[in-house]
This record gives sequence, structure tokens and C-alpha cells, in this order.
Amino acid sequence: MIKRELEQLEPKNIWSIFKDITKVPRASKKEEKIRKWIKNWAEKNNVTILKEDSAGNILLTKEATKDCEKYPTLVIQAHMDMVCQKEPETKIDFDNDPLELVIDDKIVKAKGTSLGADNGIGMAFGLAALSSDNLLHGPLEVLFTVDEETGLTGAFAIKSGFFSGKYLLNVDSESVGTITISSAGGGGTDFDLPIKFEKYNKMKGILLKISGLQGGHSGVDIDLPRLNAIKIGIDALIQLQQIEFYLNKMNAGTVHNAIPRDCEIEFLVPEKGFKKIKKILTAWKEQTIKIGRKTEPNLKIEIIESLTNDGLPQTITNSVVSLLNEIFHGPISFSKEIPGLVQTSNNLAVVKTTNEKIHIHVSTRSSVEEELQTAREVLKTLGEKYSFKITFDEAYPGWKPDPNSSFILMVKKLYEEVVEKKVELQAIHGGLECGLFSALDSELQIASIGPNIKNAHSPDEYVEIESVNILWNIIKKVIENMGTLV
Ligand SMILES: [Zn+2]
Repeated sequence: MIKRELEQLEPKNIWSIFKDITKVPRASKKEEKIRKWIKNWAEKNNVTILKEDSAGNILLTKEATKDCEKYPTLVIQAHMDMVCQKEPETKIDFDNDPLELVIDDKIVKAKGTSLGADNGIGMAFGLAALSSDNLLHGPLEVLFTVDEETGLTGAFAIKSGFFSGKYLLNVDSESVGTITISSAGGGGTDFDLPIKFEKYNKMKGILLKISGLQGGHSGVDIDLPRLNAIKIGIDALIQLQQIEFYLNKMNAGTVHNAIPRDCEIEFLVPEKGFKKIKKILTAWKEQTIKIGRKTEPNLKIEIIESLTNDGLPQTITNSVVSLLNEIFHGPISFSKEIPGLVQTSNNLAVVKTTNEKIHIHVSTRSSVEEELQTAREVLKTLGEKYSFKITFDEAYPGWKPDPNSSFILMVKKLYEEVVEKKVELQAIHGGLECGLFSALDSELQIASIGPNIKNAHSPDEYVEIESVNILWNIIKKVIENMGTLV
């Protein structure tokens, strides 16, 4: 590994801005310091801070250079927050300390922490465009959002008219050779059922523990052959349907966007016939592991005798088991235009039991607005059938693919000129800020590109040096060719 100084890297302006950015704390929801830094930077570089909103989003602008006044306005957009992750042995205070950069031949990373190239490099592209003095450009707008990483709340807050350009280049993608042109929308559904425990005599408790599943991201991994811990747990209870049993608790999953990896269910069964019940469950366990191990090699199921004698009445027990059995988990439909792309999906994400209620959360995604609504209505009908109270989270819109957009075609052509090979247009089942922007203005055309960033959101995050150079060449070309869109 050849150690290099950041100052030796090209393009110099991008790396020097990026280095400054890595010195400024910018965890999601704690963007005050980076916002202040952006405003100082703008002042120093003669760039106008056009707008800020109450969420903390910032819009910077620069007038067209001579003879380019007629070019349509280009918006370059990045998010200013980063995911702060560190190795256990690394000592850092993410609220105050700068990151320490490590540079080798091919990559830049941070010592023991995430790098924040997602999306600090994107910010550097935007600022370099504003401060470059040898670039011919039309009117430029550079939009920096807050809090992309924990729920797109910055982009959510942006009002129609906050930026004026009709062409938006999002620089938050992480792979050279592809242009992202579509993302999924989504929305969560909450199911709540009030409960009251009762004491049951002559019953024995069983605690069922399911663990060791791979899980994964509900946007990216939903179509992979992976098992959902909640579905496995419910399958066990379905085996007992001919037998009297009372649910005590069920807990599984933690967040809306992760496929649940663990599940714990405690329930009561009659003392009489306990041996037979254990036999049924043991046979089920062996069969489930045998089948499940093909895709889930670390699947673990434990059947443990427990001491509880509290249970939920038959009607509640039945409601919970039937509802969880009927909620669909996984891809609901696939795109007809883009082979292999999941169009609509459900992630049966969380089940939680407290003293007062049973709570269930399902996260639905779709790139087609109507399908998103239909899928959520189906959930509502199901939930109400079993007397659950249904609450819909605010949905965020999808970004519909428009492969014939003049802007996308131009970006693709210029991109291919730089890399000298075919560039792919891709759609993703995850959520992007672009979806929220596309919903603001039906005339807006958007493309998303970025350098090669690997292991984002982890201490192993790095960015490939040469890919930053390639991307900057593409961005410069897009800026200089905006006049062709008139
Ligand atoms: Zn990002």
C-alpha cells in the first residue's frame, strides 16, 4: 500500500473541499455545524445563499457565465448528513471530532470510522461546480438536504418552488457505470390491539425462540430467498390449531426497513397432553430446519419450557395468529418494463407485546403509486377483520422511470463519452430523495449518479479515487451541455 497525501489527488478542487468537509461533524439530525460551514464557504467563495428552510435544507446559486444565460437551470443535489459508525476500539466523538483520512493508491477511507463519502463527495461536486472559474455554465442551483439517512426528512420538508431548476442531478448514487432513474415509494402500516392478560390454571408455558436468520434490507433484499422470523414463529402456532393454547407474548423485528431475523413467542398449552404437544413442535422444528437450512444455514429454533401462567384470551390469541398468518411478506409484483425489479412489496417488520397492547408494523414499498395504496388498503382490511386499530404512516412517493427524458438521455450520452462504454439505466426498490422531488413538480427531470463508494454506513466505507475523477468529468460535461436542452 502506497501512502499518499490527499493534496496529491486529482481533481484537486474536489479533494480539497472533501477534506474540509470531513473535518466538520455532520451526523444525521445534527447538521448545525455543517450548515454553518456551508454558509461560511459560500461567503468566502462569492456564492449566493439563496434559501434556507425551517428543516435546515440549503440552496446555493450561481449566475450563468457570459453567453450561457439562456441555458436552463441545473440543480445539483446532495445530502449533508452522514451515518456515523466506528470500530469498537476507535475513540471518536462524532459530535465534535474531525475524521482521520487514510489514503492509498486507489482508495480514500477513514481511520476506524465511516468516511461520509456518502454524500460528502456529492457535496464537494456541488461546491466545486459553484466555485470553478474555468467552467462555462448556465444558472446553477446547488441543493443540500438534511437528514437523508434517517428517513429523508429533509427532502420531505422541501416545498414546491424551493428550487427553480427543471433538471436535477442527484449525486448520491454509489456506482460508476449506472444512472439511477427510478426508486420506490413507501409507507408503513401500524396495527394495534389492546390486550388484557388472564391467569390460566393447569397450563404450561412454552418459549419458542427463532434466531440466526440473515435478515437484510427490505428495499434491496426483499426478493432474495430469505426467511422472515415472524412467519416461522406463526407457522409453529399453526401446527397447534387443533389444541387449546393462549399467547403470552410475541416479539420480533426492530425497524421498518429490516427483514426480521429473530422472533420470540411465549404461550400456554394444557398440562394434560403436554408431551404430545412437545412432540408436534419438535417434529415441526426438525422439518422447518431441514427445509429452511437450504437458504438459511444458521437458522436456530429453540423450544424451552417456561413458568408463566398468564395468557391472552382465545379470541385475541386467534386474532393475532390469523392476522400474522395472512399478512403477505415479500414481493407482491415485479416491473413489466424493467426485468427483475420488484415493483411492490411488503416487509412484515415488527411485532411487539407490551402490557397494554400487541403492536405490528408492516412496511410497504412500490414504484407505482396506485399499487402502494392498494397494498396498504389490503392490510387495513385484514387488520380490521381481526379488530386491530390501523394507522397509516405518511407515505413517500416513488420516482417513476422515464427512460425517454431528454435530460436522462443527455446525461447518458455524455457519461458514455467519458467512460467509453455503455452505461446502464437502473431502477431500485429502495427509497431515494429523488422520489420526493419528483412529486413536487411533474415537469422536473432527474438523474442520479455517483462515484464508486463501497461499504457505505460502516467503518469500512471507502471511495475509489479514480471514480471521483470520472464523475467530475461527467458532471462538468453535463453542466457545459445544459444549453443543448433548450
Ligand atoms: Zn447517501
